Amino acid sequence: MDYDRFFRRELDTLRQGGNYRVFADLQRRAGAFPTAIHLGARAPSDVTVWCSNDYLGMGQHPLVLEASHEALDKCGAGAGGTRNIAGTNHYHVMLEEEIADLHQAESALLFNSGYMSNWAALSTLGARLPGCVVLSDALNHASMIEGIRHSRAEKMVFAHNDPEDLDRKLSQLDPARPKMVVFESIYSMDGDIAPIAEICDVAEKHGAITYLDEVHAVGLYGPRGGGVAEREGLAHRITVTEGTLAKGFGVVGGYIAGSAAVVDFVRSFASGFIFTTALPPAVCAGALASIRHLKTSSAEREGQQRRVAQVRAALDAAGVPHMDNPSHIVPVMVGDAALCKHVSDRLLEQYGVYLQPINYPTVPRGTERLRITPSPLHTDADIAHLVASLSAIWSELSLKRVA
Ligand code: PLP
Repeated sequence: MDYDRFFRRELDTLRQGGNYRVFADLQRRAGAFPTAIHLGARAPSDVTVWCSNDYLGMGQHPLVLEASHEALDKCGAGAGGTRNIAGTNHYHVMLEEEIADLHQAESALLFNSGYMSNWAALSTLGARLPGCVVLSDALNHASMIEGIRHSRAEKMVFAHNDPEDLDRKLSQLDPARPKMVVFESIYSMDGDIAPIAEICDVAEKHGAITYLDEVHAVGLYGPRGGGVAEREGLAHRITVTEGTLAKGFGVVGGYIAGSAAVVDFVRSFASGFIFTTALPPAVCAGALASIRHLKTSSAEREGQQRRVAQVRAALDAAGVPHMDNPSHIVPVMVGDAALCKHVSDRLLEQYGVYLQPINYPTVPRGTERLRITPSPLHTDADIAHLVASLSAIWSELSLKRVA
């Protein structure tokens, strides 16, 4: 087989469909969030980033940087191995205690990313609960789907955010079988929020445990940044909460939180935890500082919500179509892969705005979009420039506006 030929042909197919991914060559500038330097341009230039998942700019917060520097100087760069081999660094201990407290849980466990935490925890729980059936929301993230697939447990997909369909599916099952309901609090592409209380009601009725991904909510919602479950007083009803340290908290890493027994179970059986080098101490120190800060400061959360409302109002005034939802995610709908990439390229090259295209398979074909994530650090001028740029492109390309 001519392997390279095969690879090139597959890539060409992606290109023809407008789905070939190109990553902008950007350099974040600490202290200047949300500005970055665009190094891919003919001459390096500043751009305003409008699609960062460092939702609150915590990745550059002075307290986070100071804590990371201190731990780097104290402990060095790496963790020295898996926790099995190198032991647990004290920063891991402190961070896990802080996360458990954040979610009002007995215990927490760190992973190297949110993806890994979903993959490792779901594959372990699904595989080791005897005869387990996994009830998975239709729009769950790839990391959850892969974790469930790897578990080889029986899977039933329930209609997105639909407790009635979940109830119907659970009713078909033998009451004696272990069941796990797997869902997210905020869905990252449409920005809609799950009916957590109703889903918990249905799960309890059928004796199922609940696994909630709060990746797009932690740091951002709830009085202490514990997520939507915290905001709605539901944290105690979730069996396993999964989260990331990479988005609202601005660093990197993932985790689960739950009872001492379920967390120790995953710690003891999950290959994706046991056989990989632990997070570096400096990363843990930065995440710890970020969580601690956001537990007591609501200024970032409130600032973000204000900016989100401003962006929505400005888009409405300009007639640029965006999806309505109750979260901080503002999807501007384009509906065509090539066009979406074209709009994104124009924004970057002509207007100094970085807003990457979201195409299949991240979203279904025909729903291609630009996903705006306003932060508390975007200014009035940034918002005005973003919307004026989008509006100009909408006119140039004769794209459909809303009244
Ligand atoms: N879960 C959801 C719902 C996500 O959207 C993502 C990533 O965007 C992840 C998990 C993975 O988190 P991380 O980026 O920390 O790997």
